[in-house]
Amino acid sequence: MILMNDFKAEPNELRDRMHKAARKVIDSGWYVLGNEVQLFEQQWASFCGVSSAVGVGNGMDAIEIALRSLEIGPGDEVITSSMTAFATVLAVIRSGATPVLADIDAETALLSVESAFRCLTSRTKAVLLVHLYGQVRAMKKWNDFCGKNNIVLLEDCAQAHMARLGGKTAGGFGVAGAYSFYPTKNLGATGDGGALITQDKDLAKVAEQMRNYGQSIRNQHPIIGLNSRLDEIQAAILLERLKGLPEFTKRRRQIARAYCDGIKNPLVQHLALPEEKEAHVYHLYVIISKVRDALQEYFTQNQIQTFVHYPIPIHQQIPCINMAHDPNGLYASEKHASTCLSIPCHPQMSDEEVEAVINVANTFKLD
Ligand SMILES: *Cc1c(COP(=O)(O)O)cnc(C)c1O
Repeated sequence: MILMNDFKAEPNELRDRMHKAARKVIDSGWYVLGNEVQLFEQQWASFCGVSSAVGVGNGMDAIEIALRSLEIGPGDEVITSSMTAFATVLAVIRSGATPVLADIDAETALLSVESAFRCLTSRTKAVLLVHLYGQVRAMKKWNDFCGKNNIVLLEDCAQAHMARLGGKTAGGFGVAGAYSFYPTKNLGATGDGGALITQDKDLAKVAEQMRNYGQSIRNQHPIIGLNSRLDEIQAAILLERLKGLPEFTKRRRQIARAYCDGIKNPLVQHLALPEEKEAHVYHLYVIISKVRDALQEYFTQNQIQTFVHYPIPIHQQIPCINMAHDPNGLYASEKHASTCLSIPCHPQMSDEEVEAVINVANTFKLD
């Protein structure tokens, strides 16, 4: 079986370094918010080209903490995509703000500026832009849109580690970027983890308090916070895995390239190519087919695992049925949900496995 993710196939050398890193923390006797977290925060901020990173419990909390640190909450509206992980919208709900769901562009599956425009009201405070599948696109357009309408740009970078456009890294375009280090992400821990990055030192300071009960110094709680801290073992492991991120990303791009060139079947379409080579990190390689379910079945029969990201747009999830949305509807999201398919694109795939995926995609036909 060719899997969507295969951690067991990772190099032994990497696993050894991870073991050593965890052992070091265990032997140190210091387990939460210590030197490893601080070092990782420094390295991640520098890697992303921003001044601050704040390690938190997971990617969803990173979004909630960004919103709450900016005092976006009850009565405020946040425009985001209906084609995203549920966590994106759940974070907005948890902040107390009101999500407003906009549609996507069919060629990229990313938030549509035109749709976001139709979602604007006098209560709109932010756009939460999701760099879906690892793509960073049209950032000048988004910066202009938010500037013109006097709203904040926030970035959900959970799928876009190391994605760069015009020399800038995901999370560095808006006021803050939220990262997840869930194991399957391009930079993943061996458990949950996340970080908020920002160029705004004051915002970083509030976020640091927010993640730790709203505590400024011991026993002083000037703000209402939560408990969402990155722990030392995860930070130590992330420091080791970060060293290999450029290499892993390069491999993802090679695989994507092979798919883009090699998959030629009239029943299968590709999403639009990235604006620049660096602007897509292929967290997921997504193909489109109007006979998606039959195609997925064919992959399964041929021992290739595939997933759908995402089969149900947010506005069709039970708690979100009555959520505010683009008055013109969310038809591109609905169509994408019924036609998209994610095929294996992880760094451990061999050339033979990539060839096998291409062959199966190309031999698929309707009977
Ligand atoms: C994974 C993911 C999240 C949530 O991250 P967690 O660390 O699982 O909380 C949010 N948004 C997107 C787009 C994601 O892919």
